[in-house]
Amino acid sequence: MATLVVDPNSGFCSKTMTFHSLRSPVSLPPQSAPISSIDFFFSMLQSSPPSPTAVVLIDATTRRRDCAVVFTPNNIFTPILYLSLLSIGVVISPVNPAATVPEIHHLIRHSKPVIAFASSDSAHKIPLLKHGVVAIDYVEFESLMESPSEKTENRGIKVNQSDVATILYSSGTTGGIKGVALTHRNLTAVIAGGMRPVGSSPTVVLCTVPLFHVYGLVLSLRSMVSGDCMVITGGSRSFDLRNMYGVISEYRVSHLALAPPLIVKMVNDTAIMDGYDLSSLEAILCGGAHLSKSMIQRLRKRLPKVKLAQAYGLTETTGRVFSTMVPDETQVEGATGKLLPNCEAKIVDPETGAALPPAKPGELWVRGPLVMKGYVDNEEATVGTLDSDGWLRTGDLCYINNEGFLFFVDRIKELIKYKGYQVAPAELEHLLNSHPDVVESAVVPFSDEEAGQVPVAFVVRQSGSNIDESKLKHFVAQQACVSPYKRIRRIMFIDSLPKNASGKVMRKELVIKLSSATSKL
Ligand code: AMP
Repeated sequence: MATLVVDPNSGFCSKTMTFHSLRSPVSLPPQSAPISSIDFFFSMLQSSPPSPTAVVLIDATTRRRDCAVVFTPNNIFTPILYLSLLSIGVVISPVNPAATVPEIHHLIRHSKPVIAFASSDSAHKIPLLKHGVVAIDYVEFESLMESPSEKTENRGIKVNQSDVATILYSSGTTGGIKGVALTHRNLTAVIAGGMRPVGSSPTVVLCTVPLFHVYGLVLSLRSMVSGDCMVITGGSRSFDLRNMYGVISEYRVSHLALAPPLIVKMVNDTAIMDGYDLSSLEAILCGGAHLSKSMIQRLRKRLPKVKLAQAYGLTETTGRVFSTMVPDETQVEGATGKLLPNCEAKIVDPETGAALPPAKPGELWVRGPLVMKGYVDNEEATVGTLDSDGWLRTGDLCYINNEGFLFFVDRIKELIKYKGYQVAPAELEHLLNSHPDVVESAVVPFSDEEAGQVPVAFVVRQSGSNIDESKLKHFVAQQACVSPYKRIRRIMFIDSLPKNASGKVMRKELVIKLSSATSKL
């Protein structure tokens, strides 16, 4: 074949009237080789690897302190996502994936996220955000875990301890849902204060609590930084006692983290335990709501070798502020542990505001590095909860004994806890009051063995109205903003609500009325 003569400057061949490339040819895989472009890219990267900390993509429109909504059922990606986002200064706002679309819109108006990470089956509930929604079941997470601190330094990202790390939701002592701003300092304090003692062997923790709640969020972060192994349930697998015991025996779980409703299930159906090897279990960690003495006794009887450790806290105190050290402090029945490091507490007479001595019940106030920065964009609620000296009013009636153990007595605040989930009476009252036949209403907790508490409403009807319980319940349940766990279980009609001199509804009177009217709902 005759050689083509190519002009060395232009690459032009006058014979073929074609321009040819003057650059050295690159080696491409043979045309017939079965190799994707991506495989080829990675083979190129291997032959000339970049620095492991090289920054390859920068989104110039995102900023430190931007907020990301995390909207996922429990899965192993979520804690990794938390660590990754926190390491680059992004504020995380986990949301219950069972939330309805209007509830999500409401929360998003508070936290103003620029991006959402959602499981693919719930992503459709998220409204349009600046950077869209990432379906986290498909994201490659391993790379996110590589030395986050180096990444942060390399990018010149500075995260201060006073920066907000996460926005969680709580109704606080009164009113509707508020965004609780917790800082990096808060997370640092809760993790440092709850680390496994130096030299003790790593534990295998089974997390049955939701990772979107402060309990699960802190547990997952702590477990990872302690080098413990965390087994996560509650994702797509339907979760029941058999499933849980199977997981305990399969993974030799040593510590089981749960909320009281699961203990109620365990002690009410102890026969199920018989078929499983639970010998690895050393301790049960219970928090989030009150656990009755009878449940504690029944659990001890069935699992005498397993220590029961309780923790007490609020979203506003980064999830915990009193906790039981295992095994030394587990013998004090009914106690929810001792004050965490660097914190202070006092018991205050709710009537006089005076601080009370040990063993006297009053409202628990706490102060220290676990206490939130405040409620997002809600100065009034912040000032109503945090005083100028930094004391946080918990809204819980408690006492602290002479050895410093905390005992929970009752809740003074309006909050209802259904299976550990918060139900804000104000939210349900607002809905009831929007019905044309309703003059006013009050929603109060009613004790329920399985759920802890369920919401029950007292309603004053318009004169002449004969709307009945089922119609009104249906009206509330129909509202798209009511997640199933907030459902009102019973409505009682009343001529007028009992009020004190300043016009405040006397909820305790309604609770007493309810208990005497019905023993079982
Ligand atoms: P949350 O912000 O959802 O964690 O709810 C906080 C509230 O849950 C507290 O103010 C208490 O009323 C209740 N709570 C949390 N832990 C306990 C506990 N160990 N015993 C009794 N109540 C608890």
